[in-house]
Order: sequence, then C-alpha cells, then structure tokens
Amino acid sequence: MFEKTKKVATNLDINLNLNVRGLSPSATLAINEKSQQLSSEGRNIYFFGLGQSPFPIPNHVVEELRKHAHQKDYLPVKGLLALREAVALYHRKMEGIPLTKEDVLIGPGSKELMFIMQLAYYGDLVIPTPSWVSYAPQAQIIGRKIRWVATTQQDNWKLTPAALDHLCSEDPTRPRILILNYPANPTGDSYTIDELKALADIARKYKVVLLSDEIYSGLHHRAQHVSIARFYPEGTIISGGISKWLGAGGWRLGTFTFPKQLRWLLEAMSVVASETYTATSAPVQYAAIKAFEGGAEIDEYLIHCRRILRALGKEVWRRLTENQAIVTKPRGGFYLFPNFTPWHDTLAKRGIHDSVMLCDRLLEDAGVAILPGRDFGRPIHELTARLAFVDFDGQSVLDASMKIQDKEPLKLDFLEQYCPRVLTGIDLITEWIRGA
Ligand code: PMP
Repeated sequence: MFEKTKKVATNLDINLNLNVRGLSPSATLAINEKSQQLSSEGRNIYFFGLGQSPFPIPNHVVEELRKHAHQKDYLPVKGLLALREAVALYHRKMEGIPLTKEDVLIGPGSKELMFIMQLAYYGDLVIPTPSWVSYAPQAQIIGRKIRWVATTQQDNWKLTPAALDHLCSEDPTRPRILILNYPANPTGDSYTIDELKALADIARKYKVVLLSDEIYSGLHHRAQHVSIARFYPEGTIISGGISKWLGAGGWRLGTFTFPKQLRWLLEAMSVVASETYTATSAPVQYAAIKAFEGGAEIDEYLIHCRRILRALGKEVWRRLTENQAIVTKPRGGFYLFPNFTPWHDTLAKRGIHDSVMLCDRLLEDAGVAILPGRDFGRPIHELTARLAFVDFDGQSVLDASMKIQDKEPLKLDFLEQYCPRVLTGIDLITEWIRGA
C-alpha cells in the first residue's frame, strides 16, 4: 500500500546543485525583460536598466568581421597569436606596462574569464560594495567564500586602503582575489593615481591577487585612465575587452593580461577553457585585431563617444543633484548611482521603504527602468539605484558630434536635440520622487 503512494524521485525531478539553488537570472536582465514587456504592451519606457553601449561598432571593424566570416577552424585555446600580440601592444601603449603576447588570454567575454579564473584559483573573493552584479553569483556558483567590503558615500563608494588592510589583517596569509573596477559600474567614478598607489601598497603587503576590471577604461570621459598594474605589476591581472569602448558586447570577446608571476594561473585557466568553450569565435578574433591596433578612425570614434558621455553624464548628475539626490559626478562609462535617501520620508509615506520597491514603483508609475542598489550588494533599505544613461540613438548622436569639430564640451541644446529621452527620463524620475 505504502509502496504505491510513495513518491519516487526520478532523474527529471528538480535536483539542483546546492550552489545554484536559489539563484535567479542576473538582476540586470530581469528588469530589462520587465521593461521590454511593458514596452511591448504600448507603454513609453525609458531604458536606463541594462548597461549596454549605445554606440555602433566602428564600420571598418565590422567590415573586418565580414571579411573573416569564412574563418571556420577552431583557434588556439589562449587566442589567436596576432590578437594576443595586438592586446599586449595596446596595454603597452595605454598603460606603459611591459606585456608580451604570452601574457594575454583571450576568452568569450571577460565575464567568462572571471568565472574560469575563480574555478582555477582557490581563494576568497573580496568585493567592495557597491559592485557589478555578476561577481558574487559567480563565486557562489563555484563555491568560493565572498567577503564584501563596505564603502561609504563620503568616499564616493570607493574602497579605501584602510578597509582593505583591516580585512586582510584578520588572516594575513589567506589566499584572496580582490576585484577592483574603475571606471566603475555602478558609480561611474574612478580612482585617482594616489588612491591606486595606496591600494597597491596594501595589496602587495598581503600578496592579494588583484583582478583589475578595466572594461570601461576606453570610456574614461577625459581619456585619463590609469591602471593599478602600474603600481602593483607583479600581482595585477587586467580584465578588459571590446564590449564597452567598441560597443561590441554581443560579439563576446574579453581579454585578461597576467604578470609573469601569475603565468601559472593563465595556464590553469587555459586548461579549463580547453575543456569547456575550446576557443573564442574565430571571425570575432580576427576582427578584434583591427580594434586593438587602433588608428585614426578609432581615435576619432572614442573622442566623440567620450565627449557625448561626459556632457550627458554631467547634465544627468546636475539634474539629480539639483533635486537633492546624493550622487557622485561620473568620470567614465555610462552609469550613475544616485542615493535618494534625502527623499526617505516622502517615499515612506507612499509605502516605498527599500531600493527594490523604489525601482519597481518607478517603472510602474513613471515608466523609467533603473536597477536597485540591493542588486549591487547594498543593504536593501538604502535608497540607492543604478542608472545607465544610454537611452539614445548612438549612431545619430555620434554623427552629430563628429560634425562639431571644435574640442569644446557639447552644450545643453545638443543634448536636448540628440538625447531627449535621457533628459526626459531623468525629469520623470525627479518629478516622481518629489511626488509630483
Ligand atoms: N565587468 C563589468 C563591470 C561590466 O559592467 C561588464 C558588462 N556589463 C563586464 C565586466 C562583462 O563584460 P563582457 O563579458 O562583455 O566582457
């Protein structure tokens, strides 16, 4: 009798690995899906959720991909040698770091490289809050211990040497990877040279492996990006790629560069790569050589991307600040991380008590999609959110900026003409916050 009613587990029953149980798809993608759905129902939605470059890939690089569409063979697991050479040269020129092609690993996106790095390296993952949404879930999937390090608004959400020292001094010889991301997602801020030097000193003191996520380096608004690898060359891995400065996120190509001391980690990651994705897409690698080689067309493209982002970021920052949001002025990339705590009481009266409610209601009521600070590792009751000011037609803004050949910053009337949705969306946020 009992035998008949007992539920027998079959291979098809939900039987998830403990590390994956409870994880949901990346928060960024979830809000984007919800905003897409509202949009398809006819709502006018302002897309400030997903952090994707609005600019087109430069034509001559697209042409290069077309030319190499016939490249069908698997390439070497570490990447095409000519591309590894081009990436090494790019960093030698940009950062003044003496890298060679043997120090470079190519992968299908820097995100995947970060994942296999954590698979290959045994140690804690140290992440400042706020941080990009995927670092922590990756560590969780692999089963690595995560150590969040708090930052403060007063420090512009940047990791301080004292906080790092404090964490490492608990157990000085413990193996750790620290992820430092600048220009930063979600804050848009970056570190100064003095700040990088001070952090490098602490990292060296405890021999911390530093993963320097510099995916937005090419979009530093004043082209003044400096890598911490200059000050801690022996322990820094630079993570980069073409997703942001070349607008080629969907091409899926990322790069890691390693110091000689960490060549063993490059080798170990290559073993994992060879047993998982085998190699990065061949046509994309050939095309990426052109991108990393640079030249006049890329220089011109970047001058204008940066000029647009700089003017727009500053205007968005100004409007938010004028409306009592606390927000750091951006220095690179296309994000801001406003804190709406000064509106706490007004929002509480409307039943909004945390960052998730804030973003949900903002999307429902005003049609503006932004992401809750909670998803970036902040306490849920802190009224912070990430805003990606990318809802504009990158091609037409770029064309328009290229027609203005002086080096002056772009003016407000330019932004009003070419990025109206960003400005309207920001005004909708501030009106909604005020309860208007
Ligand atoms: N780091 C940060 C901070 C990012 O914002 C992103 C993309 N959103 C990545 C890494 C991953 O970039 P990719 O995998 O496209 O190279």
